[in-house]
Amino acid sequence: MKKMRLRTSMSLAFAVLVALTVCMISLLSSYFIRKEFEEYVIFSEKKQADDYAENIESHYDESNGGFNIEYVNIMGMFALKDGFILRLYDADGNLVWDAENHDTEFYQEVMKSIAEEMEEKLPEFGGDFVTYDYNLESGDKQIGKLEIRYFTPYYLDDNDFRFITSLYRILSLAGLISIIVAIVFAILFARRITTPVSGVISLTKKISQGDYGVRVDMNQKDRETYDLANSVNHMAASLEEQEYLRRQLTGDIAHELRTPVTNISSYMEMMIDDVMEPTSERLKSCYDELSRLSDMIKDLERLEKAESGKIHLNKEDVELVSLSETILQSFETGIHEKNIEARVIGEEVHIDADRGRIAQVVANLLSNSLKYTDEGGKIVISVKKKKNTAELIVEDTGIGIPKEEEERIFERFYRTDKSRTRKTGGTGIGLTITRVIVQAHEGTITCESEQGKGSRFIVTLPIK
Ligand code: ADP
Repeated sequence: MKKMRLRTSMSLAFAVLVALTVCMISLLSSYFIRKEFEEYVIFSEKKQADDYAENIESHYDESNGGFNIEYVNIMGMFALKDGFILRLYDADGNLVWDAENHDTEFYQEVMKSIAEEMEEKLPEFGGDFVTYDYNLESGDKQIGKLEIRYFTPYYLDDNDFRFITSLYRILSLAGLISIIVAIVFAILFARRITTPVSGVISLTKKISQGDYGVRVDMNQKDRETYDLANSVNHMAASLEEQEYLRRQLTGDIAHELRTPVTNISSYMEMMIDDVMEPTSERLKSCYDELSRLSDMIKDLERLEKAESGKIHLNKEDVELVSLSETILQSFETGIHEKNIEARVIGEEVHIDADRGRIAQVVANLLSNSLKYTDEGGKIVISVKKKKNTAELIVEDTGIGIPKEEEERIFERFYRTDKSRTRKTGGTGIGLTITRVIVQAHEGTITCESEQGKGSRFIVTLPIK
């Protein structure tokens, strides 16, 4: 199924949300403003009618006992123009002035136009003319009665309708502008989020195709996208490293296997062709090469087991000083041959560990020190107890390790250039296995070294 782009769906969601909000605000505000306006019109119409009654009342002439007809005339006509139909009676109920009779034609015109206008503009409205009576008094005396008819509940003239229409227009325009602005913002906002994501996606595609050298730009504005870029870069770096190690591993295995295999086959070939006698010395040499091959295969197997998490620890009480002494003894011949001064120092420290595997750690470190220390050198194994940990240090006065390679020597098959040129070189797996064992015991191993002076391997293991 074709998926919608994140940018499109985010912009859409944002725009729909804003459109809904704007519509709701417009509808509610136009409803309430309209309602308020209607109430205002009803109130002002009532006020206007009251004013007419009050004005006519005040134009009653006590001296001749009648209303000022001229004034009533003018006001009545003004009122009619505004949609108010006045009819005035005196105290005895005799008709004094009537808008209807005064100018019948104008009266009908006004009535018709009001009814038609309201019917046309508000067909559902259903209003009608209603008469309101006012008793006109002067002091305590009844001086007459005024009937005022006007369109109820209210009448909206052209100006009022113009006001309402322009109000609706302003609200719709404001709504439209808000929606357009919101859409522009939504697109910009979505782009701000999706651009780095798209960048990461195209890079991860490249990574998945094996191009591990690519990196995401770390100049990201948001924390999440920064973290995302950071994680992808870490992933790419570690894949690049793994790829490098895999290539190196394959190359190294081929390289390591080539020499013994070539040696053995050329010896064999010459012996088969009777070019060379199969003396026991030559057969021994072949056997030695085979042993080296077998050692490498064993190392690889051990490493595979250790690295694939199959390492199973049979924990027991292990005392580090006596264990180190036993291992040292097993290296006695080699130490003696190179005239090396080697010893174990320190206090007794007991840990809960797998004896065989810890012995392998000490043996690997000691064997390296012996390999990379020249004749007449020194090797010291010291054991110390720290708070909750035991510290075992194997220190030598050997060839040392360049600073920048101190971390790398723990990688499988990694060997420093100096050690590669030595006859006694190993397979570069020993320290990898050592670190796996130490880590399985929840310990750490680090190396401090100075080239040409010697190395210190510090193993820290928890006591219990
Ligand atoms: P190897 O079998 O080659 O010794 P290791 O994994 O044990 O493999 O060691 C990796 C590399 O670390 C060695 O090849 C060597 O270059 C370096 N190394 C290890 N221990 C020492 C040491 N004590 N002195 C100098 N270099 C060392």
